[in-house]
Amino acid sequence: MKPKKCPNCQGELTTKQVEKILKGGVHTAILQIEAEVCLNCGEKLYKPDVVREFAQIRAKLKNRETEETPEYLAWLEETRLKIEEGLQAAAQGDVLDATEVLAQLRSKVAAAKIALA
Ligand SMILES: [Zn+2]
Repeated sequence: MKPKKCPNCQGELTTKQVEKILKGGVHTAILQIEAEVCLNCGEKLYKPDVVREFAQIRAKLKNRETEETPEYLAWLEETRLKIEEGLQAAAQGDVLDATEVLAQLRSKVAAAKIALA
């Protein structure tokens, strides 16, 4: 499977953990989720499923008049986990994670140092 390209600049995309801030009315929620991030322009791409979840969270935030309840927090956590599961399934074998690439580079450098010593 070919890695997808950035729709803005055709740059390379990498799967990254990002912070997404959602606002609904006066309320704000911060989600830590995975997204495809362009290495060139920084554009963040989310799957359609994720975008739908964002809309639901925004609507929920907007309608929320009271303080955060345990039910609400549990719901938010559940939604976050669902999003991550979906993204992990979608990202498999697609784009190499940046941290994995870095780890490979480090082991190559370490091996080169041993060879020179
Ligand atoms: Zn881009």
